[in-house]
Amino acid sequence: MSARGIAEIRAGLDAGEFSSVEIARDYLDRIEQANPALNCFVTTTPEIALTQAKAADARLAAGDAGPLTGVPLAHKDLFCTDGVRTSCGSRMLDNFIAPYDATVVAKLRDAGTVMLGKTNMDEFAMGSSNENSHYGAVKNPWDHARVPGGSSGGSAAAVAAGLAPAATGTDTGGSIRQPAALCGVTGIKPTYGRVSRYGMIAYASSLDQGGPFARSARDCALLLAAMAGFDPRDSTSADAALPDFAAELERGLDGIRIGLPREYFADGLDARVAAVIEAAIDEFRRLGAEISEVSLPNTGLSIPTYYVIAMAECSSNLSRFDGVRFGHRCADPVDLEDLYERSRGEGFGDEVKRRIMIGTYALSAGYYDAYYLKAQQLRRLIKDDFQQALSDVDLILGPTTPEIAFGIGAKSDDPVSMYLQDIYTISLNLAGLPGLSLPAGFVDGLPVGLQLIGNYFDEAGILAAAHAFQQATDWHLREPAA
Ligand code: GLN
Repeated sequence: MSARGIAEIRAGLDAGEFSSVEIARDYLDRIEQANPALNCFVTTTPEIALTQAKAADARLAAGDAGPLTGVPLAHKDLFCTDGVRTSCGSRMLDNFIAPYDATVVAKLRDAGTVMLGKTNMDEFAMGSSNENSHYGAVKNPWDHARVPGGSSGGSAAAVAAGLAPAATGTDTGGSIRQPAALCGVTGIKPTYGRVSRYGMIAYASSLDQGGPFARSARDCALLLAAMAGFDPRDSTSADAALPDFAAELERGLDGIRIGLPREYFADGLDARVAAVIEAAIDEFRRLGAEISEVSLPNTGLSIPTYYVIAMAECSSNLSRFDGVRFGHRCADPVDLEDLYERSRGEGFGDEVKRRIMIGTYALSAGYYDAYYLKAQQLRRLIKDDFQQALSDVDLILGPTTPEIAFGIGAKSDDPVSMYLQDIYTISLNLAGLPGLSLPAGFVDGLPVGLQLIGNYFDEAGILAAAHAFQQATDWHLREPAA
């Protein structure tokens, strides 16, 4: 059976071709077969899946089903899931059973989805390759010697490999869009505040945002509709009108003004990736879009700005993992200091420690003005660049990543080269803007992602443009060899 999308699964359920229990079993079998090689899942939840699938079948039979009822999916392992281990890819939380559901998990559960399990990720969502997980690297389904991207690599790879039709992810600097690009699936990072962060383990709170992965923009629209909305339990949740994302999909591209940032097509972009994006731009033009050039002059500052802010915020957020309240505790501490030192020393991996140390330094007295404050000022300039560009165009288009998936281990000793993988994705998080990555072609048999960026709360416009492209092309339907 080839991989299916949400719409096809729902059609099959409605037509009685299979039940939700049968389709859940089918995916659980696929996971059992393929996961040892790919390492996408750190936990599977077959009992929960079968209970939820039975309930979905009852809703379907009663005529009480919504667009996601009976659809299996996987959650990134930083969304708290009631009664299920939520490890965040860290030894620190290897023993943490969440006592409640994140809002995103609760909303998708109430929509009738069926949880297959929790997906692997870079520890505390810090990474661009999914090599920083306590549970080992995730493999790219297109080439097992390469990375799937990170930090939501398990989710992206699971969807690409057909181990789940959909999955949740989070994006602090690119962690939905970058792995979506490298694995050849569609993923959207919504506007900051669109999706509740309640129950999402915090990395950098002013940047973190949850969103879906799926096989098409249409499926992402269905998932986002269920995930989004105001949440009084998240103080940064936006009380903004929620459009009917699925109904807006058919808007088409006629007359849509799309800007190409000059800085995204400059040095550092692999020429073969550029050629794929150029061909896709021709397709957008053919479909009626008006293409022009725009400029985002501060693009080059986005990586240093992001890494000061993200590390500062993570040093503060991760101070709660101290071996006292929950998480890993060292054996036989002699006193409180020993308890803190060894619990944190043993619980956190190298990349997390590097970031906590740099972030603590950047926030310390005497350096705060030089680093954190300066970064906040640059953040404003980056946001202004986008506002300027988006006053002339409806959407901004470019590559999602500068390269195709790289080899496992290829950048492990060079954090700066790893950080550069997020050059086109990170600035959106600094600005709080929504962005989507979709498959636009291949280089050497590996997927290339195209990014569409829209104005605040215009996820519907982004999804509609992506949908129009996917109606005219079949890149998103390609599948890796089993
Ligand atoms: N690669 C970036 C980082 O390591 C972004 C990660 C993310 O979006 N969670 O911070």
